[in-house]
Amino acid sequence: MTAVPSALVPPVPARSPVPAPAPAPVPAPAPARSRAPRSAYDLSRGELAGLLADEPPYRVRQVWDGLHRRAHRPAEMTELPRALRERLEAALPAALGEVARRSADGGDTVKWLFELADGRRVETVLMAYPDRVTVCVSTQAGCAMDCAFCATGQRGFERHLSAGEIVEQVVAGIRAARPRRLSNVVFMGMGEPLANYGRTWAAIERIHDDLGISARHLTISTVGLVPGIRLLARATLPVNLALSLHAANDELRDRLVPMNRRYPIATLAEACAEYVAGSGRRLSIEWALIDGVNDRPSDMAELAAFARPLGAHVNLIPLNPTPEYAPGGSPARRVAEARDALLGLGVNATVRVTRGVEIDAACGQLAACDTGPVVGPPQVR
Ligand code: SF4
Repeated sequence: MTAVPSALVPPVPARSPVPAPAPAPVPAPAPARSRAPRSAYDLSRGELAGLLADEPPYRVRQVWDGLHRRAHRPAEMTELPRALRERLEAALPAALGEVARRSADGGDTVKWLFELADGRRVETVLMAYPDRVTVCVSTQAGCAMDCAFCATGQRGFERHLSAGEIVEQVVAGIRAARPRRLSNVVFMGMGEPLANYGRTWAAIERIHDDLGISARHLTISTVGLVPGIRLLARATLPVNLALSLHAANDELRDRLVPMNRRYPIATLAEACAEYVAGSGRRLSIEWALIDGVNDRPSDMAELAAFARPLGAHVNLIPLNPTPEYAPGGSPARRVAEARDALLGLGVNATVRVTRGVEIDAACGQLAACDTGPVVGPPQVR
């Protein structure tokens, strides 16, 4: 397991004309779990063996495979004696209580509102496409990043999710995707995954090793926490990185994404170059197109200057509306112009469908979840 910090959330300083302070050092690694497991998926195999110490040794494999390979609740493990099923169901209660489930896009998008054991609520989105099924998971309840346009940021930070609570969202996706196979996981739901690096990475290892989803089908999204990007550059699994950039000059990005005051564009570009060189993976850049704010030709020129040296692919997503941010998504004509401008500047760019708009995807980034290319003219509001 990679040695990783569990929290990379430095305070965001105001930009000033004096030189910025040196970036905060990467905090020391911290345990990925609290002592009491929040989810069955927080339990290690050794801890499960302890729980089953009075059972024949093969029960550990049976239950482990039941939880991971078959995504079963203990009550569904009919290969176990009834008394054991009941004991496990009591010892390993579901971490996610379904509060609401809504679907859109003809049933191809499903959004859950889950309540955790302590009453915090998070969202998970499942998206089905002809060639893949993707689940978009939350890594925190709320978020401290305070991005101007984001509903989750407007709600503030509540707490980090445990690795098991993250994995359990993927398991919910596996179950709901049936009879199809869940193929992709994107960490683009509520929260900033790299601000909860230790637990997010522990979840990635569990999803890869035990749920059997390839690292190349796992994508971490970030607004640009440089220490976390640098850790990904030397991580043991080649996961994908999606950078939510939204502005490529410091003046505008300071306003849209306050974390930019800590890690400005030039520092971010260096870290992204490190990630590309270290991981061998292509970087993708997410750009929420905001009407009259970041959709002008000059914005596209700045974006191209950032993306081209990194060989990055740009995903353009018309902004989903949120209650406390007045500007809306760019109109269809400007979306097409932005894409054409990037293509003309030698940058690969795709317009993405805003899946789930009609079910009010709560996080500014939920709209950016691996939404597949638009066929025909951009379908924007
Ligand atoms: S866009 Fe993502 S990082 Fe920014 S406030 Fe929303 S959840 Fe947090």
